[in-house]
Formats: sequence, structure tokens, C-alpha cells
Amino acid sequence: GAAPADAGAASAEARQKAPYLDPRLPVQRRVKDLLGRMTLVEKVGQMAQAERSAVSTDPEQITRLGLGSLLSGGGSTPDANTPEAWADMVDAFQEKALATRLGIPLLYGVDAVHGHSNLVGATVFPHNIGMGATRDPRLVEKAAHITATETRATGPQWSFAPCLCVVRDVRWGRTYESYGERPGLVSRMVTAVRGLQGERDRQLARPDRVLASAKHFAGDGDTVFGSSTTGGYTLDQGVTVTDRKRFEKINLAPYVPAVREHRVGSIMPSYSSVRWTDRGDGRAVKLSAHKELLTDVLKKKIGFEGFLVSDWEAIHQLPGDYADQVRASVNAGIDMFMEPFSAPRFVETLVAEVEAGRVKQSRIDDAVSRILRAKFRLGLFEQPLTDRRHIDRIGSAAHRAVAREAVAKSQVLLKNSGGALPLKSSQRIYVAGTNAHDLGNQAGGWTVTWQGQSGNDHFPGTTILDGIRRNAAHVTYSKDASAPTRGHDVGVVVVGETPYAEGVGDVGNNGHTLNLSAADRAAIDRVCGALDTCVVLDVAGRPQIVTDRLAVMDALVMSWLPGSEGEGVADVLFGHRPFTGKLPVSWPRSEDQARVDASDRDHDPLFPYGHGLTTRR
Ligand code: BGC
Repeated sequence: GAAPADAGAASAEARQKAPYLDPRLPVQRRVKDLLGRMTLVEKVGQMAQAERSAVSTDPEQITRLGLGSLLSGGGSTPDANTPEAWADMVDAFQEKALATRLGIPLLYGVDAVHGHSNLVGATVFPHNIGMGATRDPRLVEKAAHITATETRATGPQWSFAPCLCVVRDVRWGRTYESYGERPGLVSRMVTAVRGLQGERDRQLARPDRVLASAKHFAGDGDTVFGSSTTGGYTLDQGVTVTDRKRFEKINLAPYVPAVREHRVGSIMPSYSSVRWTDRGDGRAVKLSAHKELLTDVLKKKIGFEGFLVSDWEAIHQLPGDYADQVRASVNAGIDMFMEPFSAPRFVETLVAEVEAGRVKQSRIDDAVSRILRAKFRLGLFEQPLTDRRHIDRIGSAAHRAVAREAVAKSQVLLKNSGGALPLKSSQRIYVAGTNAHDLGNQAGGWTVTWQGQSGNDHFPGTTILDGIRRNAAHVTYSKDASAPTRGHDVGVVVVGETPYAEGVGDVGNNGHTLNLSAADRAAIDRVCGALDTCVVLDVAGRPQIVTDRLAVMDALVMSWLPGSEGEGVADVLFGHRPFTGKLPVSWPRSEDQARVDASDRDHDPLFPYGHGLTTRR
């Protein structure tokens, strides 16, 4: 053959014959071959993840640094928030990665936590707390598969989901990201991993699957409230105070099937800390630097072969200077570093730590091997650019039908006296309340924006009011219940929370409380006072305190955060489907009861875990 014209062509030719590019070879062989060709700087580059917004002004830094991964944090979307714009954006970044010496493709991650919910037009499923109420692991798997299909078609091949948190205190602002308060329930719902990744990750290379990331390892839902050790009211990113045996039973349990049965590809250590009460020095240690839990327990004992990705700037919370933080977390076992705006500094720092002998070369090789393995399994070397064949299925009628089914199955009927439910189409219905006609409130946080937003203008879907209107001819709607109620047979009052995400939703923080708002209480009083029959729906990410209003309600339904398909709520209200949802968390009488503990015999909630009435079809 002709002599290569330049070095670039020479390396391209050498590459063509390289074993790592041969899809017929086993993944282990390809990883070994590629690792053997990499410089230290290239290896450390693979361990770095930067934010979309940090690289969009200077995409060349992807090539320069040889970045391993990018993410879109909540609400970090392309300007035109369409499927094609997403895929074009991811592909343009990918071209930059392919232009590096070895052409190692990027992994692109998003928080597709209840559908590909950053994308306008995606199917938005109920948040996990509602999925937990369905008690249906197959439905959870189906929803995750749809989420994977809609996500991968627009570029990202990785989702920071599912959350395997076991919520032990509903004052926690991330309660709705949990499937429930019992480890057994959360463990059953790890079918979400199979829905995202496919069967034992063999289907990962397909255009309808993404790499999963179980989070936040571990104890994120079990942090203690307002104690002197945490200072103030912080539950999110707080401290789990427990002995090892209880921690294993409650917090580690769901990770065992996620790793062993479903081979979850990545796991995200939590912002929170653990303080052992049995042995140790009694210090709270951040999970980002918890060698015992990350390496000895998760990787060695449980057998996790995927990679660990640190949470957003989580290592910045560790003690010491930046070099101390990087060294402590990499030596504890973190493999990829979500360093949204400091990836260049991260690469420089870690390279220096290795050169100074403070981080072993073998630790770097282990981390990079784990990351490369995922990239090979995802088929990224064969198909680095987005396979868009499923793009037309995004938000399709078929996908929305599954979400609607999930909504219907997630509804929990807490009270139903005098046969108030199901409603009849012939009834004259008065609908009121802040959440009767608000898609944004229905979807909660992590929807188009990080915190979520109230209102009907942000993404398509149907509200609960829309669903009721499709079932009955005589419907009056008055958000604040100010329109007169005469001439109606039944009132439906939809109360609840407005969207929030992460720490801001913690009770005691930013004015958050489990109590109903004054407006919601007024609407209940007005409607229930004026009409013979009154049905109350709670659209919220966690139980709210309804103790003093329960007597005036004929029926009470917990709707959770149903997402884009409000019609699913109407399906059970009108008896097209029976109510089958069961409480995934205990329902407290007062905020004092918000923390559950299985060993607490005096715990006497308003409605116990598992409660849920049914109606016949
Ligand atoms: C959250 C994670 C999320 C990450 C990336 C963090 O603030 O704790 O759950 O995956 O951001 O958006």
C-alpha cells in the first residue's frame, strides 16, 4: 500500500488493526489492549466528567483533555429542547472525542429519573414513590425500558437512575425519588435496572437501552433529622447514624440484587455521610471517601464490577485542599468524577498525585478498565453516533398508555365512605384546588428543569381536570373554589405540593412543611362544607398531614406525582380500573411521626404502610 501521508493517517491505520477495535474479541481483551496503549493523561481524562454548559462554549476541550464523559445536569438542555437538537448536540460532542488519538467515545449522562424528563415531549412517568405504590416490578421495568428508548434515541446512553434510596423520614426532600420505606419493596423494584440496561446487560448496545446508575450509595434516605451531629434540619446530604447490621439490612439490601442479578453498570455514591454506632471512631464519613463501603463492601463483598461515579461536585465537600479531596475519593474507590466545571483541574491534579506516588497506577488502571468496559458493552466503539431509529416513539401513544396505566395503578385509596368513589359520568362535578389543573405540579421536580415548575406551558400532557372532563359532561372548575357550588352532586378537591428537588424540599428548609397550605385547607373546607359528597386528592411527593380534615372528606386519594398522564387518575376515579395502589410509606398523623423505624412498637400512623382500599370495576 501507499505510505501514509501524515501521522494522523498513520495512527488511523494502526488503529484499524488494533484489537480494541475488533468487535469479535471479548470485552476483557479489548479493554486490556486499549489500556495498554494509553498514557497516564489519557487514562485520567477517561475518569473525568464535565457539564454540557462547561464544554459547549469550548468543545475543543473534549479533544484536548480526552474527557471520558459529559452530563446534562437537571435542566441543562440544548437551546431548542427537541429530540433532534439533543441528538445533534450529543453527536457534535462525540465527534470531538472521536478526534482524540485513540478515538475513545464519550459516555453522555442525564437524570432520566421518571422518563427522559429533561426533554420536552417525553413520556413523563410517576415519580418512584408512585411506582412503589403500584407494587408492580414488571410495570417498573416496562417504564424504565420506555425511558431508555426515549433517552438513547436522543443521544445520552446513560441515566443517573434508579434511586435505590429507602426513605425512612418523609421530611426528606427527595422522598419522592424513593420506591418506599422498606428495603424489601425497594429491592423488588430494582427491575428498573433491567428495564434500562436489558437482560443482564447483554442488550446494552441496542438503541433502546442505556447504562443505569443506582444511587445514592448508600443511606441517603436514612439520614437523621435536626440532630446536633447534623446541625439544624438538613436531611438531604446529612448523616446516617446506625450500626453496621442495620445499615446492611435497610440501606445496602437493594444494591445486592441490583449488582448480582441485574449487573447495574454504575453506582453513584451519596452526598451523605455515615457514622457507625457499633465500632469505629464515631466520626461521620462522607460516602465519597468511604473506602470501607465503596471498595471493601460494594466492590469486593457484593461483587460490583461496574464503575462508581461521584455525585455533582461531591468531592468538594471532603476535608482538605483539592488534591486531598481527589486523592481521598479515588483511593476510596471512585472511578469517574462528576466535576461539572472543574474537569481540567481534576485531570491535572490526579495526574500529579499519581506521579508523586500518592495514588497507585493500579488504582487508575482499575478505574479506567471499569469505565472502558461499560463503553464496549454499550457498543459505543461500533456505533458512537446516535442511532435515532426510535426517535418517533418519543411521547408516542403506546408509551403514554403505559404511563397512564402506571398512574392508575399508583393511586392509593385511603378513605372511601358511603361509596363516594367511583364517580359516575352522570354526576355534576365541581372540581377545585391548586393541583387539579397543573401539569408542572403533577410532575414535580426533575421535569424539564431541575426543580420543576408549576404551570401547563412547559411540556405536553393531560391534567387531572382534563381526565375528569373526558369522563363527565357537567364539570365546573374553580381553582380556589370561589365559584358557587350549587347544582353539583360531588366535589373533587385536588390539593398538594408545588415542585422541588434535592435539599430545598427538606421540611424545615425554605419553608417546606408536611402541612397542607392555607389555600388547600380553605378549598377543602369550602367544597366539603357546601356539597354532600366530597373527594380529596393529594398530588404530592410524600404524605401530607390531613389528620384534622379527614372527617370532612368522604374519600381521600393519594395521587403522588403522576407525571404527564393525568387521565390515569380519572381512570380509577370513574371506575374504569379498580384502585389497587398500596402505601409505600407510613402516613404520619403529625410531623413528629415522619420518621419510621421498624423496631418502634408505639408507631401508630394515621394510615399504615401497605394501606390501600379497593373499588370494584
Ligand atoms: C444529584 C444526583 C444527580 C446529579 C446530576 C446531583 O445534585 O444528587 O441525583 O444525578 O446531581 O444531575
